[in-house]
Amino acid sequence: MTRNGVLGGGALGLTAALRLAQRGEDVVLFEREPEPGGLAAGFHLGPSYLEKFYHHLFRSDTAAQGLIAELGLGDKLVWPRPKTSVWLGGRAYQLDSPASVLRFSPLPLLDRVRLGAATAYLKAEPNYHRLEGMTADQWLGRWMGKRAHEQVWKPQLISKFGERHEDIVMSWFWARIHMRSTSLGYLRGGFQQLYNRLVEAIEEHGGTAQFSTAVKSVTRRPDAGFLVETDSGAHEFDRVISTLPTRLTTQLVPELGDEYARKYGSVESLGAQCLILALDRPLTDIYWLSINDLDFPFMALVEHTNYMPPEDYAGRHLIYLGNYLPMDHPLFRKSEEEVLAEFLPALARINPDFSPDWVTDHWLFRAPFAQPLVTMGYPDRLPPHDTPIPNLYLANMSQVYPQDRGQNYSIAMANRLVASLPATIPPS
Ligand SMILES: Cc1cc2nc3c(=O)[nH]c(=O)nc-3n(C[C@H](O)[C@H](O)[C@H](O)COP(=O)(O)OP(=O)(O)OC[C@H]3O[C@@H](n4cnc5c(N)ncnc54)[C@H](O)[C@@H]3O)c2cc1C
Repeated sequence: MTRNGVLGGGALGLTAALRLAQRGEDVVLFEREPEPGGLAAGFHLGPSYLEKFYHHLFRSDTAAQGLIAELGLGDKLVWPRPKTSVWLGGRAYQLDSPASVLRFSPLPLLDRVRLGAATAYLKAEPNYHRLEGMTADQWLGRWMGKRAHEQVWKPQLISKFGERHEDIVMSWFWARIHMRSTSLGYLRGGFQQLYNRLVEAIEEHGGTAQFSTAVKSVTRRPDAGFLVETDSGAHEFDRVISTLPTRLTTQLVPELGDEYARKYGSVESLGAQCLILALDRPLTDIYWLSINDLDFPFMALVEHTNYMPPEDYAGRHLIYLGNYLPMDHPLFRKSEEEVLAEFLPALARINPDFSPDWVTDHWLFRAPFAQPLVTMGYPDRLPPHDTPIPNLYLANMSQVYPQDRGQNYSIAMANRLVASLPATIPPS
């Protein structure tokens, strides 16, 4: 029986481990954190789990919907259509339908029509390759119009990608518009249930998932196969799938060599930071508020309980204040109290009645390698799943291009990768 080692217990590693176990193969998954779910993991809050970083699905996320149904959680998947807005010039404008685009008063009517027409084109255009030769900044400025771009998208590119905002490739932006629905899917009670259920399903099929187990190195054994060293012992495998970021994988597997590390390990990533606040009352009536006024200390305000009911969280009103930042950014090193002191005054700009004593609880989460920098030439820097080492495979979030990262694309990649692997490994 083929022995498989899977590195990483996020959506990708867990789905890959399940598919291997379902084929009757031996599989052991290693996850550094104490719980499954990776970037989509949640924590207990009242009777539910809450994601550490805001999460929802789109109608086009069919692989995720398929897995949720397969694991018996389909009746918990709900599809509300919460309000999405931008904060601009000191007030919120709803911007989530053709009618709301036409009502978007910061722009003259003709510019609103252009904004709507360019969006409709991106929704309809099936071929993203045509857009690979331009940056999002160039394309949007040209086709949406300079004023619309500067009011709507440019501030969001700047706050997400900082000084690299002018380099982001248009094909990535296309996917954000092309694939997204206004109804948003949520697993009532938290996506953590999907990851817990995946672990159970892996175990029901004879696989093993080890948590709080960091992989330290992967080396080739002299005869055949691999030795995976973890902080709780060494394990032998015939095949290894790494779902860790490429740069981490090259550090764990020195035999991949300097040239491979130089060529593929250079894809840059941003980290993510979310301050979650529990309030005793709502702040707004909006779910997703992109902050286009660039003097705010956060780029998105996501009021989760304008999407899911507060009763799911024992009556708490929950707000994420999110940022993407270079992994060495000073905000990453600030304490929770310092971040709170920096962020709270901005809430009174959004709702003048806000007072810090509305805050009943707070949590700060940070994650490295949360958003690949999808700059010009990105497709050429993407490694294939096969590595120069036979039976060592790499499958990670950076390879979902042109899609933006998402649980769905990690699940779909795991399904495709395992389906392409031979059931038995010929002796070398
Ligand atoms: C702020 C934010 C918002 C998001 N919003 C959405 C959304 O709305 N909808 C959506 O679908 N997706 C969203 N995503 C993306 C989604 O979370 C990811 O695409 C998905 O979870 C990636 O899964 P993965 O398994 O590919 O990677 P990861 O979740 O990163 O899994 C990799 C795993 O490897 C583990 N690991 C790392 N090093 C080691 C080691 N040495 N040994 C063992 N284990 C190790 C990590 O702990 C991690 O669990 C969001 C992400 C962020 C950061």
